[in-house]
Amino acid sequence: MSDLLNNFLEESFDSDSYVKKLCENTKLFLRLNTNAQFPIGWKYIVEELINTIKNYPISITKINDSFSLLEVKFEIEKPTKEVCVWRAIDKARTDSACTCALCGEEMRSRQRSNPFELLCVECKKTAGKLGKTQTWLDKY
Ligand SMILES: [Zn+2]
Repeated sequence: MSDLLNNFLEESFDSDSYVKKLCENTKLFLRLNTNAQFPIGWKYIVEELINTIKNYPISITKINDSFSLLEVKFEIEKPTKEVCVWRAIDKARTDSACTCALCGEEMRSRQRSNPFELLCVECKKTAGKLGKTQTWLDKY
């Protein structure tokens, strides 16, 4: 088993610290109980999202993977720019649907015949040997 996969399965990737670091020196505010949780393969999606919305004074209240998609929730003070934030979050969510949660490679939509599929074909081969379903069900 690769170290990368090992990290994924043990959830040792500290997504919360990663997000906290990205939000440093931005106008974004992370709620104390935000506790960002998402797989390592999506870190560049989150990085792009933070970069896009970093100049908006918003409170991020939630970043996690929900039913195999990236879910981000926020509260905003000035509603004028809200649509820009929604667009950025929607893009991140759409990107997460076709990005391997482990290696971060783009998955072709037809490979993702199972809407809960998180891993690309290659990563799935490795994970399959471990008896995982590679979906959010593995948490339970
Ligand atoms: Zn992969």
